[in-house]
Order: sequence, then C-alpha cells, then structure tokens
Amino acid sequence: MVSFLKGGNFMETEELQELVETVSLNFFDRPFRHKAVFNKRLRTTGGRYHLKTHNLDFNPKLLLKTDENTLVGVIKHELCHYHLHLSGEGYQHKDKTFKKLLKEVGGLRFTPSLTGKNEPKRVLKYQCLTCKTVVKRQRCFDTDKYVCAKCRGKLQFVEPIKS
Ligand SMILES: [Zn+2]
Ligand SMILES: [Zn+2]
Repeated sequence: MVSFLKGGNFMETEELQELVETVSLNFFDRPFRHKAVFNKRLRTTGGRYHLKTHNLDFNPKLLLKTDENTLVGVIKHELCHYHLHLSGEGYQHKDKTFKKLLKEVGGLRFTPSLTGKNEPKRVLKYQCLTCKTVVKRQRCFDTDKYVCAKCRGKLQFVEPIKS
C-alpha cells in the first residue's frame, strides 16, 4: 500500500498522480491521461473533475481527516466523472451510467465531511465494569443496549477525551 503520510507530511503531487493512474488502470481498465493535483481551495468537497481541462483536484484534507480507503474511494468517484465524460456517456450524479460505474468500481457516493479546522475530534471513553476493557467512541451510546464486545459485561461512561 502507498503511504500517504510520510513522516507527517502530505503526499507529494507526483505520488497522487501515480495513485490516480494506478486506480484508473486497476479499476477502470483505462489510463488516466491528465493531471491530478491537490487543491487547498476545496473546502468541503473531496475532489473535483474539471470538464474543460479533464484534470482532477483533490482536497488535501482527505489525508488528514480520513484514511487511505476514503481517498481511493474519492479518486474512484472522480474517475467515474472523468471516464464517462471522455467516452461521451452520462457523467453526472443523476445519470444511470454514473451510478452503475460508481457501484462497479466501489467508489464513494459522497465525500465524508471535511468541514471544521484541524481540531482534534471529541472522543468518548467507556469502560467495561467486568473486564476493564476501554472502549472509545465518537458518539455516545446507550449503555443499557450496548455491552462489552469481549465479555458482554456492562459498559460505563468514563470521560470525554481528545484524540
Ligand atoms: Zn461527483
Ligand atoms: Zn468486558
């Protein structure tokens, strides 16, 4: 697998280009012949396909806020626009051809939320009263309904922590 965060640094543009070309060949059996770059001006969108230049923009926040599966999912989504547009087929979200191709390659339908600054996410800590296993969740859940996965013991809310 490609390492996206090299020592805390962003992936290089060349590496992004290479990744998009690889995903294109592996999942679409067609080459990506244009440019893929990171665009810091994208706010909440994960990626963008330019109809005129056929180039792809990707949000660098994808690297900070999501994982590599998500980045590849967004790349697949944009490549669906790209290949369908270039082959003269329906390339918009509403088009059947788009929906079908997106499903085939396993692309993401929507970009996960990229809003907010780089503040750490709030994490809630729970602990099993029986085996003391600590469970971290982003959302609070009903401790009457959900039990410890290891021993089925009762979970207790401990504290909100910052990740
Ligand atoms: Zn799209
Ligand atoms: Zn337990």
